[in-house]
Amino acid sequence: MTANILVVEDEPAIQELLAFNITQCGYRATEAFDADGAWTHINHALPDLILLDWMLPGSSGVELARRLRADQRTRNIPIIMLTARTDERDKIQGLESGADDYITKPFSPRELMARIRAVLRRRAPQMSDETVAAGGLELSPAMHRINANGVLIDLGPTEFRLLHFFMTHPERVYSRSQLLDQVWGDHVFVEERTVDVHIRRLRQALEPTNFDSLIQTVRGSGYRFSCN
Ligand code: CA
Repeated sequence: MTANILVVEDEPAIQELLAFNITQCGYRATEAFDADGAWTHINHALPDLILLDWMLPGSSGVELARRLRADQRTRNIPIIMLTARTDERDKIQGLESGADDYITKPFSPRELMARIRAVLRRRAPQMSDETVAAGGLELSPAMHRINANGVLIDLGPTEFRLLHFFMTHPERVYSRSQLLDQVWGDHVFVEERTVDVHIRRLRQALEPTNFDSLIQTVRGSGYRFSCN
């Protein structure tokens, strides 16, 4: 799954540089030039990460970060603040407003990309391209490959994303609606029983290697990936 990064930056040259680097790294970049523009995108679909400039015309980046953190729907979106300010107090204010990380201009695109990857790995591991291993299964998003104790498992794209999400969030119970948000995407209008259909397909694909038992049904709650 390609992470969609919303870049909120009012200077066109920096916006362009950021979008270029983000695309080069294999992510998708969406552009907004102020807080209102950012909300229009966010209302349409939740981004996987927001790169947020501090100094924006109208509402500032810090105000936008606070608003995002105060709203149930947007509170978990990872945010990296981008700013020319280097004063220590400003950095603290940026982080206190809810940013996950902070980078000052002028920035090195390589460092910024490394930070984006680090924040995504920490906050949205299912967006990372790194191989994950759990309970004898090994899943490589980059190669779109699943190895079950030496046996390659063939999965459709949705089952693959579902398993990737489970493997990066083991031992926790997720309701059908949470799985829809996380795996299908927010604002996607599909019925909850769609989740059951794909869970069934995932189990069927894992059954020959007996790994289907890792996908557990938790009655009345949803599903859990458990290695115990
Ligand atoms: Ca600016």
